[in-house]
Amino acid sequence: MIIRRRSFLKAASCLPLSVALPSIAYTKIDFGKTNITTVSDGSITLPAGLTFDTMPKAELELIINELSLSREQLVRECNVTLLETENRKILFDVGAGVYFLDGMGAIVDSLDERGLAPEDITDVIFTHAHPDHIWGVLDDFDDLLFPNATYHIGRTEWDYWWNPETVNRVDESRVETAVGAKTRFEALQDQIEFFDDGDEPIPGVLALMTPGHTPGHMSFEIANGSQSALIVGDAINDHHVAFKRPNWLNGLDQNPEEAAQTRQKLLNRISNEDMLIVGFHLPKGGIGRVAQSGTEYSFVSI
Ligand SMILES: [Zn+2]
Repeated sequence: MIIRRRSFLKAASCLPLSVALPSIAYTKIDFGKTNITTVSDGSITLPAGLTFDTMPKAELELIINELSLSREQLVRECNVTLLETENRKILFDVGAGVYFLDGMGAIVDSLDERGLAPEDITDVIFTHAHPDHIWGVLDDFDDLLFPNATYHIGRTEWDYWWNPETVNRVDESRVETAVGAKTRFEALQDQIEFFDDGDEPIPGVLALMTPGHTPGHMSFEIANGSQSALIVGDAINDHHVAFKRPNWLNGLDQNPEEAAQTRQKLLNRISNEDMLIVGFHLPKGGIGRVAQSGTEYSFVSI
């Protein structure tokens, strides 16, 4: 996410009332000895132009009509992945908490519906440091929400947001994102462990550098026998244009050209290898498969 709260509220004031998504607290699949569940942090509503303005208009119109998308605002689910192994409960990202936009910050309630408390989480692995993925790591008292967890993040992502020059180098719409990430990093710095592309931050969880949405965005591959799943974070961050035209540039990505290459590569691999895809902003809980037809892909939820 890149937009600042104030500028979002200004843009949103021209929009119709938010569309509430049906509340699904969690979606679960059995995955051998482990379970993969997505736990809802709520949903995020953004002006559609943030995604659409960089795209070819006439062709976009056809997709908007075909999939009945709004031209004013796009509502995306926020699905935090929970991986349960024999002795660990691992979250991938933590959601936005109460400091960002309305409609988010549901993670504790959703975990509760799943029978879990924040104290039960053993590890948190971040895909990237945008507000809807990391701001929720601080609770209402600015303490770490998951007190017993070890936190893990890709070194490139950490170095980028930790650099004091980043806040001066990003464009104005991303200043609040940079400040918010740095604040969270300062709270995390004594409990954070770093990993790089190809590492396993936790045994059985393979980190893959998937840059473009942010400079150090990471995805995670989990394999079990012949089954495998890819947790893609925001490398594929909607179920419509990202799938139908993965090579189009998307204004939500910090480096749109690099993000488009990453997206294309991921979709190609996920469909070819018939992997499960687990996406933070994909619909119906965010777990599914990728179907390919010519140069187009589609998301098939489970
Ligand atoms: Zn996001």
